[in-house]
Amino acid sequence: NQFVYTREGDYDGLLAIEDITAEVEALLPSIPALVAELKRVAKGDLPRISTGAHCHTPYECPLLAYCQAREPKLPDYPVDVLPRGHALIAQLRAQGHVDIRTVPDHLLTRDTHKRIAAATRDNKPFVSDEFASILDAIAYPRFHLDFETIQYVVPRWLGTRPFEQLPFQFSCHVEDRGGTLRQEAFLDVSGHPPLAALVDRLIEVVGKSGPILVWNQGFEGRCIRELAARFPEKRKALLRIVDRLVDLLPIFREHYYHRDMLGSWSIKAVLPTIAPDLDYGDLDIGDGGAVQLAYLEAIAPDTTARRREELRSQMLAYCERDTLAMVRLSQWRPAAAVRRANRGGRAKAS
Ligand code: SF4
Repeated sequence: NQFVYTREGDYDGLLAIEDITAEVEALLPSIPALVAELKRVAKGDLPRISTGAHCHTPYECPLLAYCQAREPKLPDYPVDVLPRGHALIAQLRAQGHVDIRTVPDHLLTRDTHKRIAAATRDNKPFVSDEFASILDAIAYPRFHLDFETIQYVVPRWLGTRPFEQLPFQFSCHVEDRGGTLRQEAFLDVSGHPPLAALVDRLIEVVGKSGPILVWNQGFEGRCIRELAARFPEKRKALLRIVDRLVDLLPIFREHYYHRDMLGSWSIKAVLPTIAPDLDYGDLDIGDGGAVQLAYLEAIAPDTTARRREELRSQMLAYCERDTLAMVRLSQWRPAAAVRRANRGGRAKAS
């Protein structure tokens, strides 16, 4: 990923050639024994081993779905939903606890795990006392921003590197204090490098002040910082945008949980628990991976103009839904907080 594509058509240096003949030759004598061992394993029965922590370490095993399908059906709320809890999950399963609702409290030590267990067991969403005030404190106008990006293994645009996350699209809902919404967007499906135009449009859309709400600041922040490094003349303006980012993800992670989120705070896990009407089911594109595929198809030279326009509309609709989702999530207040606010309002009025 160190290679920088600097001249059209020149990929010299993209691949680093390394001679490993000596290492391979050193391994050759051990190969017959290894093959014999593998043949013995392949002839035998499937090992009797349950899925557990070993299926995720160091990476998720590609056979996980296969192995899980052969195990007794998991309960609706399995202990597996505990985030970052692989070792604990294995321990709980070994002790016979497969349903999060029946795990004794003393076996859970992390606050998040306790919160998830309680909200699931009681079928009552967890909403902290501070949730409403934290969201109320975010100033207006609010800019709800979301990027779509593409990663090329072989760079296509000058100045880029392999695997760089390159934004080609964004949506931004601008929300006034009164709740009035305006949506802005950028998407270039011409196939030409979209980065410079995207930067100009972004700077124009978010203006000079107001919080910029994102879901997972690490991602949007990194994208904007990389754009700042790529376009020195826009560096200051872009870094000022980074300074204005407000991340909704940690706010929800700390202050909200519904059992149907099944241990995930991805926006697509949270949204149905608060705004089920904003389902992605009515859209032709339903996730970020599909947007990337649509983008690749849209910019392909042999794609017809009609198909390109069709894909463009679908991509715009998807990204718009993402930022509308952020608007709805940040506007949502638990019924108790609304009641409290109303009581406060009446008391002041009297
Ligand atoms: S998912 Fe992979 S690691 Fe886990 S039991 Fe199955 S084969 Fe083994």
